Amino acid sequence: MLWTRLPLSCHSRPSTADWQPLRFDGGAFHLKKTAELARALLVLRLCAWPPLVTHGLAFQAWSQRLLGSRLSGALLRASIYGQFVAGETAEEVRGCVQQLQTLGLLPLLAVPTEEEPDSTAKTSEAWYEGNLSTMLRCVDLSRALVDTSGPARNTLMQLKVTALTSPRLCEELSTWIQKSAGSSELSPERLAEAMDSGKNLQVSYLNTEQNQHLQASLSRLHHVAQYARAQRVRLLVDAEYTFINPALSLLVAALALRWNRPEEGGPWVWNTYQAYLKETRERLEWDADAAHKAGLAFGVKLVRGAYLDKERAVAQLQGKEDCTQPDYEATSRSYSRCLELMLRRVSQHGPLCHLMVASHNEESVLQATKRMWELGIPLDGPVCFGQLLGMCDHVSLALGQAGYVVYKSIPYGCLEEVIPYLIRRAQENRSVLQGARREQALLSQELWRRLLGRKA
Ligand SMILES: Cc1cc2nc3c(=O)[nH]c(=O)nc-3n(C[C@H](O)[C@H](O)[C@H](O)COP(=O)(O)OP(=O)(O)OC[C@H]3O[C@@H](n4cnc5c(N)ncnc54)[C@H](O)[C@@H]3O)c2cc1C
Repeated sequence: MLWTRLPLSCHSRPSTADWQPLRFDGGAFHLKKTAELARALLVLRLCAWPPLVTHGLAFQAWSQRLLGSRLSGALLRASIYGQFVAGETAEEVRGCVQQLQTLGLLPLLAVPTEEEPDSTAKTSEAWYEGNLSTMLRCVDLSRALVDTSGPARNTLMQLKVTALTSPRLCEELSTWIQKSAGSSELSPERLAEAMDSGKNLQVSYLNTEQNQHLQASLSRLHHVAQYARAQRVRLLVDAEYTFINPALSLLVAALALRWNRPEEGGPWVWNTYQAYLKETRERLEWDADAAHKAGLAFGVKLVRGAYLDKERAVAQLQGKEDCTQPDYEATSRSYSRCLELMLRRVSQHGPLCHLMVASHNEESVLQATKRMWELGIPLDGPVCFGQLLGMCDHVSLALGQAGYVVYKSIPYGCLEEVIPYLIRRAQENRSVLQGARREQALLSQELWRRLLGRKA
């Protein structure tokens, strides 16, 4: 097992003066090919141009009309799709992942699904069943990508609950959960039992159709979790909008009862916590305590949160209080406090508590590495880092080279399906893309260095 520079076996507490911060100065770019750096620079510059992000789908339609689908597809593959997506086939994904593995980075596969609550086709039971098959294939692919030549690492994949159950039902359940907190009718125990037994769950305030859909959704979730556990793939459940998150958390809590028992070697199902929400720090502490009291393992993906604009717009439209932090600094303070809480839990409970620091923010990453050092948490232990494929490689590579466990979140799939997903993600992460100026500067500095033939 790799340890931070001061192993736990050395009992004296390291002084902060001993701690050497990682340098995110693009030094690790020497590992990348010139063509890759040039594409990254071009794509990040394009994505920082607001009209392209705002009117992305319209641009795509125009380019298809002007250039034909073949040429326009080829252009997208050489640029945005090539930068942010692993490919379409298992072979393409494998090629991308092998490249990452040579750089010391691990895959976190994510199936890009675009739910459309108003589309009949995309809310039918058949659509969700199709998504279930895709998720099971994603489990298989995640397992097949394990690099058996390197050190043993956890295999992780992302799971979006609204690919398996309708956002409308989640909204309905969330409203009810908020109204009747503590009621046993929708307790995690009751849901877990229905998942295990497959017996019909009847919820009094849902109609017959909704009850049937709930039962089918529970079966799908159970199926994925059971299969993932058998394949030794850990599921990181995405957090989405606040009007559905309570239902998502309830479903995760039900899955956790079955799959996060210590004897399972868990946690196999992790939840995501969004620091941009005012209540998150408190909820995280409450959930961590509850898992501990119930004797369950606890897995957390900690993010700042991707849906800020929409959350605020919905709150304004409905005349409700804005549940998001008032400004960027408040979100960062919240992230920092959640990080501190989780790192302390990891240092107290060891492998029963897992954390993914899912952030591109250099300060957050530095805080995590520094506190891991101070708390004596091993580099290859229960704390890992996550960044999106094609984003902040200077951070991911520096972490990977220093021996930390780093996952790149990797969407994959055919161009037609993935581009709308990418554009929506780009719109949601507008501030991140616009803030990627430092990465652009480092990329351009490395490209100039190569052009002028200077030594690294
Ligand atoms: C592996 C991985 C998994 C992810 N999974 C999820 C997920 O399940 N759910 C999800 O929501 N997101 C998810 N994300 C996306 C993540 O939330 C965004 O990448 C993140 O918001 C960007 O934050 P940062 O720490 O990387 O960067 P930074 O650039 O430091 O932070 C930008 C973020 O700060 C916050 N912010 C910006 N301006 C303001 C403001 N005025 N007021 C308040 N807050 C502000 C927003 O959250 C914004 O996204 C995931 C990201 C990764 C890498």
